[in-house]
Amino acid sequence: MDEVSCQEPSTSSPEEFQQVWKGIWKIRTPNRIHHFIWRAARDSLPTKLSLKARHLPVEDTCELCGDFQETILHGLWLCEHAQAVWKSDINFVPYYKKGFRSFFDLLEEVLRKGSTYHVALFSSMAWCLWQRRNRLRMSQSVWPLHENGERAKGSGLGVVIRNCTSHVIAALSQKIGLPHSMETTEALAALRAIVFAKELSVFKVVVEGDCLKVVQALKARACCNTLYGTVIEDAHYQGASLQACHF
Ligand SMILES: [Zn+2]
Repeated sequence: MDEVSCQEPSTSSPEEFQQVWKGIWKIRTPNRIHHFIWRAARDSLPTKLSLKARHLPVEDTCELCGDFQETILHGLWLCEHAQAVWKSDINFVPYYKKGFRSFFDLLEEVLRKGSTYHVALFSSMAWCLWQRRNRLRMSQSVWPLHENGERAKGSGLGVVIRNCTSHVIAALSQKIGLPHSMETTEALAALRAIVFAKELSVFKVVVEGDCLKVVQALKARACCNTLYGTVIEDAHYQGASLQACHF
């Protein structure tokens, strides 16, 4: 079949290679998506082609279209199922005018031309496509293809409230739009945790989180000159109306 293989070497210079690796860690997405994009760029996702190359007893044909080998570039970009998703967003259509030899080359182009938001959206959409492909492979239920973009635009935050003996007394998860950064998501989670505690009439709380920067900003109580600074201020404001709120 007439499809460029992802095994083709990239034509990028060493400097351009470095720019891509640096660019990946600046993408404003959760760590799991950073890691996924990094693996995709390194051509180290377990595609059917790579599994077959490792002598696993699988056919290397894409299960969704049945026409081409399942490479990373095929699964995430060239497959008609992937194209239906990307071409539903006008910002990604122009990239189809150019042929790419690998996912790395595609990513390089997106990092060079896309806005911060669209680079993040590209990464999240690719991740959702890969998740959907894997779920189909394992005969698990999946979301309709046309919902892929909306799923990628949504991020989630989770809050768990424990009592003084560490037993979970309440939990919530909430979808939010594609945030500026993981720090913003963490700050929003802290704010939501405080508001949630008030809704449950819990008036003495200790807020914990995974992001050191956000925890430090919450502890500092000084003006926070970051994109998520207003969220930190809101968290302080909400926390001040509790009997005790420690970070
Ligand atoms: Zn396919």
